[in-house]
Amino acid sequence: MSEKWIVGVDLGGTTTKLAFINNDGEIVHKWEIPTDNTNEGQNITVNIAKAIEEKLAEHGQIKDNLIGIGMGAPGPVNYDKGIILNVVNLGWPDNYPLKASLEAATSLPAAIENDANCAALGEMWMGAGDGAKDLVCVTLGTGVGGGVITGGKVVQGINGAAGEIGHITVIPFGGATCNCGKTGCLETVASATGIVRLARIELAKELKGELSEKLAENGSITAKDVFDAARNSDVLAQSVLDEITFHLGFVLASIANTLNPEKIVLGGGVSKAGDILLNPVKNNFVKFAFSAVRDSTELALATLGNDAGVLGAAWLIKNKLNQ
Ligand code: ZN
Repeated sequence: MSEKWIVGVDLGGTTTKLAFINNDGEIVHKWEIPTDNTNEGQNITVNIAKAIEEKLAEHGQIKDNLIGIGMGAPGPVNYDKGIILNVVNLGWPDNYPLKASLEAATSLPAAIENDANCAALGEMWMGAGDGAKDLVCVTLGTGVGGGVITGGKVVQGINGAAGEIGHITVIPFGGATCNCGKTGCLETVASATGIVRLARIELAKELKGELSEKLAENGSITAKDVFDAARNSDVLAQSVLDEITFHLGFVLASIANTLNPEKIVLGGGVSKAGDILLNPVKNNFVKFAFSAVRDSTELALATLGNDAGVLGAAWLIKNKLNQ
């Protein structure tokens, strides 16, 4: 084999995504394994090592062709120490030495980073960031994650908790309870779950229009239903969309007024709604962005989808080698 590969791993609560990625950021092979969080999470890195060995054998490759392994994990990470500080659903104790565990299991040099930061690095390297070194990435999924990159480096913060855009308060009084324990966080409004929650509040006031039909039909509604109905000019769905995009535009303008990034990238499952989400966010953004920021910071949709995490994880190793 002429080229060497980096292993990129995106660790999720139920599924672990893996990929062999070359130095140019091309995904050579990608696959998934279930995440086994039993036994205090002790099987996680062992299973990753096993999956890598099996995949190498399948393709008639040897381990010497792997340069290292980068992994994104769902929780605050101390990058320099290689420790994941606390994570709710993977079974690990607080301050778990994940980098050391990964290195012991795989015999490869490892680097770990928060998963939302990895998504931001992936978009910077191969996606909508298009090489921008000052970039903010907001992941709108089940929750709301964020990654801030300035000068090509992830902003870590003193406790690995920088870039937690999802926990910026947007409803100071009387907001819904967030997974983090606070109330009124952006995540309670702009995540897929938040969007459904807002729609159900409206439907509880008055059962009318396309969304109420969907609810009667399926017994539940999804964030996608809200966007689909808004596309069909459903008044209730439109009012929910107005609320979400106001808060997003406001928060992103405030972040941009602080950092003036080249790009703000919206990713995650909710961002698949496309322009019906992006355009009103932009309209609100320009209202609240300071003029020099408004003229220079661009809002864009993520382009890598589910691959952003593994690519960003691989970038950690590529970047380490180039230092
Ligand atoms: Zn929160």
